[in-house]
Amino acid sequence: MNTPISRPISAGPALVDPFGRHVTYLRVSVTDRCDFRCVYCMAEDMTFLPKKDLLTLEELERVSEAFIARGVRKIRLTGGEPLVRRNVMSLIESLGRHVKSGGLDELTLTTNGSQLARFAAQLHDHGVRRINVSVDTLDEQKFRTITRWGDLKKVKEGIAAAQKAGLAIKINAVALKGVNDDEIPEMIRWAHGESMDLTLIETMPLGDIDGDRTEQYLPLSVLRAGLMDQFTLEDIPYKTGGPARYMQVKETGGRLGFITPLTHNFCESCNRVRLTCTGTLFMCLGQEDAADLRAPLRASEGNELLDAAIDEAISRKPKGHDFIIDRRHNKPALSRHMSVTGG
Ligand code: SAM
Repeated sequence: MNTPISRPISAGPALVDPFGRHVTYLRVSVTDRCDFRCVYCMAEDMTFLPKKDLLTLEELERVSEAFIARGVRKIRLTGGEPLVRRNVMSLIESLGRHVKSGGLDELTLTTNGSQLARFAAQLHDHGVRRINVSVDTLDEQKFRTITRWGDLKKVKEGIAAAQKAGLAIKINAVALKGVNDDEIPEMIRWAHGESMDLTLIETMPLGDIDGDRTEQYLPLSVLRAGLMDQFTLEDIPYKTGGPARYMQVKETGGRLGFITPLTHNFCESCNRVRLTCTGTLFMCLGQEDAADLRAPLRASEGNELLDAAIDEAISRKPKGHDFIIDRRHNKPALSRHMSVTGG
């Protein structure tokens, strides 16, 4: 997979779902493993997939290229923690060539930042220009409690290294009632003070965790109303191709995003599908329906079967999801964890 230039990708027909939405954004979960155990994401004692079930990095590249040939312009690597997958940098290097050749507009990743100090410069060399780093609190003790295993100091060092390498950073924070809601103004000032965007995310009911999600769930409509006592928030048309809606914070001059799958879903403009590390394609983060791409991928060296499976999957992309969190629905809406499909 270390050919010096990217193979030319012959263009196939665009991927258009039954609702006329063009699929131009692929998220790839390169591993379900993570070096953190965030309380809203995983149970502490997780059983991970056997390594033999994973697509190899070459196979992940091949599926990604099949999507690029069908009009995908943006790829986000996620997980689990993408930077803990062995040799992941070789996949990033290969996919980065499509950015350099104009085949992709953007290659990016979502990371917990734990390995960034080590990899930031290489990410930039391979064509990554923007990354999302997940940070839910600026309090070291609380950070340890939320992530169970994480070290905030190390993450901050990673962020500094990434900025030094020239990567633009967006901080993602899951809003957790009674945990970090009182800290959001401070996080806005911190992120914007360091020239980073901040996006707030509602907790989604994915996978069994040790606690009760209804205790953690904080509607962002409520949080935003509170923020307006301290900040002037102005709607702006800024878009990154993802589901966040952005506002400008007048006092800091920075951007604040809101991802609100529960209080206001964003399905009508969905341009995304998600590939897991075992080659399963989820057409919607919030539905069980999925398509197996591993079998057609492995059945032949050419991409005809894979292409046909992708077409068939896109023809089943649902209109939207229906997450609910309330006291009557405190079971997860879906049994799989976010670490399987990737955030
Ligand atoms: N390990 C990487 C990271 O920490 O960003 C990438 C994977 S992680 C699953 C991606 C994002 O999903 C993180 O921002 C995380 O906070 C978020 N996340 C995980 N479980 C979630 C849930 N149930 N609801 C909302 N966001 C969740």
